[in-house]
Amino acid sequence: MARGKKIYEGKAKILYEGPEQGTIIQYFKDDATAFNAEKKDVIDGKGALNNRLSEYFMTGLNQIGVPTHFLKRLNMREQLVRSCEIIPLEVIVRNFAAGSMSKRLGIEEGTQLTRPIVEYCYKDDSLGDPLVTEEHIAAFGWAAQQDMEDILSLALRVNDFLSGVMFGVGIKLIDFKIEIGRVYDGDFQRLVVADEISPDSCRLWDIETGQKLDKDVFRRDLGSLTDAYAEVAQRLGVLPRNATPMTKPTLIN
Ligand code: UDP
Repeated sequence: MARGKKIYEGKAKILYEGPEQGTIIQYFKDDATAFNAEKKDVIDGKGALNNRLSEYFMTGLNQIGVPTHFLKRLNMREQLVRSCEIIPLEVIVRNFAAGSMSKRLGIEEGTQLTRPIVEYCYKDDSLGDPLVTEEHIAAFGWAAQQDMEDILSLALRVNDFLSGVMFGVGIKLIDFKIEIGRVYDGDFQRLVVADEISPDSCRLWDIETGQKLDKDVFRRDLGSLTDAYAEVAQRLGVLPRNATPMTKPTLIN
């Protein structure tokens, strides 16, 4: 499928105009960044794995009636998505304390939370995506009150779905981040899960051993990132057990 003009290049993905109006081609790069891009590397195979994993999660969400921007995967690195207006918030859902929350509140990583906690960060790299409250979101007009209700409901539905899927393959969903987009159907607008859902944006721990199978492997130098992501893909049946080509793909495009 022919790609159009480049629209945007981010840290892990490039967006191109899609073949039809209202569509975008999302290209997954092998670049890994952490700590607001202070740590960088190129990790062979990461893009292809995230493309497949995001396809898997988004397809499942679509099938259970949680709307997403995902239309179809095109090849190893690209997927076709609906174009949407991204709400400038990172929506984080936490089931267990970890990362910035553990640091901020002095709670040991892995502590189970009594209920899922939803946090919002304002998407602005130059500010380091600061944590904001619903008061900030309303006051600065980043999203309306009705949007916030819909975002909360989407985030919790994604959490239930992902927690269940991961539990089924022996993985604990510690936390994750999603982005929300606004799509227009004529005069009608609705919110959908956008961007990607992959081990880049989730914390995934093996239930038995606590082994990390997510981007913390890169952030904290814990070993091979593609091995960790391939393990998740294999457990989910997205990548056959004996297949190595996905981790060292010969790439189309
Ligand atoms: N996260 C993300 N992108 C970001 C910040 C966080 O995907 O820019 C994800 C991260 O991978 C984790 C969750 O959101 O699964 C919570 O991240 P946290 O706030 O603990 O920040 P971190 O410790 O990653 O800086």
